[in-house]
Amino acid sequence: MNTENQIASNLALVKSSLRDAEVRAGKQAGSVTLVAIAKTQSIEAVQCLLGTGHKVFGENKVQEAIEKWQVLREQYEHIQLHMVGALQSNKSNLAVKCFDVIETLDRPSLARELSKHMDKQDRRPECLVQVNTGEEKQKAGILPKDADRFIKSCRLEFNLPVTGLMCIPPMAEEPSPHFVFLAQIAHRNGLKNLSMGMSSDYLVAARFGATHVRVGTAIFGKRRQDGET
Ligand SMILES: *Cc1c(COP(=O)(O)O)cnc(C)c1O
Repeated sequence: MNTENQIASNLALVKSSLRDAEVRAGKQAGSVTLVAIAKTQSIEAVQCLLGTGHKVFGENKVQEAIEKWQVLREQYEHIQLHMVGALQSNKSNLAVKCFDVIETLDRPSLARELSKHMDKQDRRPECLVQVNTGEEKQKAGILPKDADRFIKSCRLEFNLPVTGLMCIPPMAEEPSPHFVFLAQIAHRNGLKNLSMGMSSDYLVAARFGATHVRVGTAIFGKRRQDGET
C-alpha cells in the first residue's frame, strides 16, 4: 500500500475501533471527537485525511500550525484546529488567531494573555484547562489541587470560554485512574468536555468518558522526529 492509502486506512481503522468502544460504553457511535494530531507531519500526509473528509486536527507548535494550516484552510472548509502543545504567553495573539480550540490553558499568566487577545480580535476559541493529573515536574498543566480555583478564575475573572479539561497521564502508569480523576474534576466544575487518550490508550479513554481523543501515531505512523511528547 502506498503511504496515502495507508494513512486513510489507518484512519478508518481508528474510527471503527473508536465506534466499537463508544457503543460498548453505552454512548452513541461517533459521539467522541477524533482529533488527528498532525504535528511534524507534512502537508501531503495531512491532505490524505482531508481527502477522506476528516476535519478535526491538532498541532503542538504555533509556528508550524500557521505555516501548514494557512494554506490548507484556503483549500478545505470547516477545519477545526486544536492547540495541544505547551503555549508560551507571548504567542497568545497568534494562537487566538490560528486555533479553534486551545487545549492547553494551564496558568493564570496565559489566561490573562488569551483573554486580552480574544477581546482585541473579537474571536473566542474554546478553551480546555490542562490538568497535570500525575503531578509530574516536567509536565505542563495546572496541579489538581489548584484546578477548581483556576477554572473558576478563567471563567469569572478572565471571561474565557472554558468548556472542559485535558490531561496527558504519566507514560509508565495505567491511564484509567487519571481519566477517572479528570472526569471527576470536570464534573464538579460543570464542564462537559474531556480530552484524554492518545494512540496507546484512546479506547480506554473512550470507555472512561472522553469526549475528545488525540491520536497521532496510530493514524500517521511513526513521527520523523519521534521522542518528543
Ligand atoms: C503528540 C501528542 C498526541 C498524539 O500522540 P500519539 O501517541 O502519537 O497518538 C496527543 N496529545 C498530545 C498533547 C501530543 O503532544
